[in-house]
Amino acid sequence: MTANINIYSIREHKGQTLKGTIHLAASQLLEEEFVDGCWEDIVFDYQVTNAGELFLLEGTLTARHTQPCNRCLVSTSVQVKRELMEKFGRQAIPDEEVFPVKGDELELTSLLREHLLLSHPVKVLCDDECQGLCPQCGRNRNEQDCDCDTVSPDPRLAALEKLLPGHQGEGKKE
Ligand SMILES: [Zn+2]
Ligand SMILES: [Zn+2]
Repeated sequence: MTANINIYSIREHKGQTLKGTIHLAASQLLEEEFVDGCWEDIVFDYQVTNAGELFLLEGTLTARHTQPCNRCLVSTSVQVKRELMEKFGRQAIPDEEVFPVKGDELELTSLLREHLLLSHPVKVLCDDECQGLCPQCGRNRNEQDCDCDTVSPDPRLAALEKLLPGHQGEGKKE
């Protein structure tokens, strides 16, 4: 399956829409070094409207992305979602970003690649309550307790925390 939409059926009919769903493999959008099993279930639900001079593409791109938990490094999958709206046309329009219609095809590969990469999560947690790795012995504290003394805070961190607002008793009570 290609990441193209054929608009033949609506090209002569202003106001008509075309709806569909495209399922994509990561390898269709991304270079091998970015694929690496971390993007899956890439789905693009779209609607194209013939708006006369332009074809308006509206869609929702969803995918599942896997990366290490920010605290404990366990492989964690999250669903990402991105709404997009772009214009396609047979000729350029001044001051508007218009992608070219090629024949009757809207070519979406590079567009979807860009939106997919923009939806890349900055950081993920396997669980909001993730205990992370023990800073002393490196054990995953979600799986196993350790006897390390990590209760007493790192004195350097404690000093830093004092500098943060809300740590000097000036915070408002609610
Ligand atoms: Zn975690
Ligand atoms: Zn430990």
